[in-house]
Amino acid sequence: MDNKAEILIKLWQKKNIRGFYSPDKAHAKERILELIPADAKVGFSGSLTLEQLGMIKSLEARGNEVLNPYKPNLSREESLEIRRKASSADYYLASPNAISGNSELVFFSAYGNRIAGISYAKNVIAVAGLNKITSDLGAAIKRAREYATPLNCKRLNWQAPCLKDGICRQAICLFPEYMRMCCQILIIEAEAIADRFRVVLVGEDLGF
Ligand code: SF4
Repeated sequence: MDNKAEILIKLWQKKNIRGFYSPDKAHAKERILELIPADAKVGFSGSLTLEQLGMIKSLEARGNEVLNPYKPNLSREESLEIRRKASSADYYLASPNAISGNSELVFFSAYGNRIAGISYAKNVIAVAGLNKITSDLGAAIKRAREYATPLNCKRLNWQAPCLKDGICRQAICLFPEYMRMCCQILIIEAEAIADRFRVVLVGEDLGF
């Protein structure tokens, strides 16, 4: 197992968070399919990592009911309503923007649906490539805002100041001139309920 992953998994043990290591995408996908019962309702937040794993398609193909707010032709209200339901599904899937070397997981959000799901869904599975590990919490927040979010804005054509050149200009990233993506930040330090929160670390680069 990768040394960084081994250290994080040990740190999470003392924080009621269960960590797993998968050497590659295929192994990670199988692991997540094993962790989620075939009859469970699943919510998720948009994530390139989940796309790269083909996670949502595999869950749907297996028969899981997946609450997908990104289906084509949904109105904004319909999409927001699915996000509300998804945040209280049996299982919630997401990918952190960064993980600190001390094991904190950092999630940025625009609408807050993923903050709600990650904070309080009955079961949460977070999946991340080793590329998202940083030295400390400050570096993790910096990575999330200054590296991952501009790339996500580009991916989604999100009209924030960082869209054009990838540079965060937080001071002017305000409504109505811009659509700010960095509206809410969640840092998971530990869990009160053992094993509610599980993390699958993947031994390759995934997402931003
Ligand atoms: S604060 Fe605004 S400009 Fe900076 S990364 Fe977030 S969305 Fe982009």
